[in-house]
Amino acid sequence: MNHATDVLIIGGGVVGTSIAYHLRKLGVDVSVLEREEIGSQASSAAAGLLAPLGPLPGPGPLADLLLSSFAMFPSLVPELEEASGIHLEYERPGALRTVRNPKRIANLKKRMKAWEPLGLQMYWLTGEEARQHEPLLGPDVCAAIYAPEESQIRAPQVVKAFAKAASNLGARIYSHSEAINLHREGNKITSVCTIQGETIACNHLILAPGTWAAQYEKWLNISIPVSPLKGQILLLQGPAQPLKHIIFGDATYIAPKGNGILVGATKEEAGFDTQVTEKETSLLYETAIKFVPALRESRRETAWAGLRPRTPDKGPLLGAAPNWKNVTLATGHTMAS
Ligand SMILES: Cc1cc2nc3c(=O)[nH]c(=O)nc-3n(C[C@H](O)[C@H](O)[C@H](O)COP(=O)(O)OP(=O)(O)OC[C@H]3O[C@@H](n4cnc5c(N)ncnc54)[C@H](O)[C@@H]3O)c2cc1C
Repeated sequence: MNHATDVLIIGGGVVGTSIAYHLRKLGVDVSVLEREEIGSQASSAAAGLLAPLGPLPGPGPLADLLLSSFAMFPSLVPELEEASGIHLEYERPGALRTVRNPKRIANLKKRMKAWEPLGLQMYWLTGEEARQHEPLLGPDVCAAIYAPEESQIRAPQVVKAFAKAASNLGARIYSHSEAINLHREGNKITSVCTIQGETIACNHLILAPGTWAAQYEKWLNISIPVSPLKGQILLLQGPAQPLKHIIFGDATYIAPKGNGILVGATKEEAGFDTQVTEKETSLLYETAIKFVPALRESRRETAWAGLRPRTPDKGPLLGAAPNWKNVTLATGHTMAS
């Protein structure tokens, strides 16, 4: 596949494929290189929560980015489903951010005050009111913030849909094609070499390699402070009575997914390891049943792990790479979920 392309994207996760889709809509000649299968890393491990409040301390540039992106979903979903033929299972169950310890009520109130200027709908609920909204909540939940607009989607479908829609529009998407070297002329990257020994010439390079971004430091001679933050997720079947909302509590979330319930996610310093461990998934389960005791009736279906591309300030690295004329960075989308 030696060829030339206007824009070359390294990384076939949700970031790389969504950029490819949007560029193709503008008529740009675009190609994507993915080392494994499209969407095989964080983008398919994700829980698919579209719940922007959690990672936000309050207003600021990250809030502007998250909330404007969040606001695009209701129109993006039908467009992408139509363009790809893939159902994204977008739904808006709303989220309850709960506490079980009365000593934590003041802190939850403080968070609500910080979030109020963001403009999302939010309601303060007592424990009793929270249980009226979500009968599966346990008896010791003593307060909650109800955010009815928070939503979710099927994450693996999203990345597949972006890739399919981009490809339907004419983007070239290469899986099992690892980029192993960059060729430069002055402060421009002119081509990328793949592990198969092929060369792709480009006018512009976009780096969207998720948690592996730091490996480009040596090629570009700039700092790209991205490191892996491991997350494990548990999928349960049951209980008989369905959960109606996404529940957050004690750094854990419990989300209804079709006939199952997803419990996530750990935050572990484990390098590039993606093994599922009994210890961490049992801890997730034990925490979840404190909030939703009916999960005792549920059955463990499966569990998986992925690597969030984490930056020191938890914000993404987006924009022109310093000192380079034609390189853009698009990585570091950690999210708190
Ligand atoms: C357990 C877990 C739960 C999460 N839950 C949520 C959630 O509910 N909501 C939310 O918004 N976010 C969530 N996230 C975060 C979300 O997954 C990430 O923000 C997002 O997937 C990042 O996408 P990406 O394309 O940057 O990375 P990735 O999906 O990791 O894609 C990067 C791709 O680049 C490829 N690549 C790397 N190097 C090369 C190379 N040299 N050549 C070719 N290809 C290369 C990799 O193989 C990989 O496929 C979660 C993450 C985890 C781990």
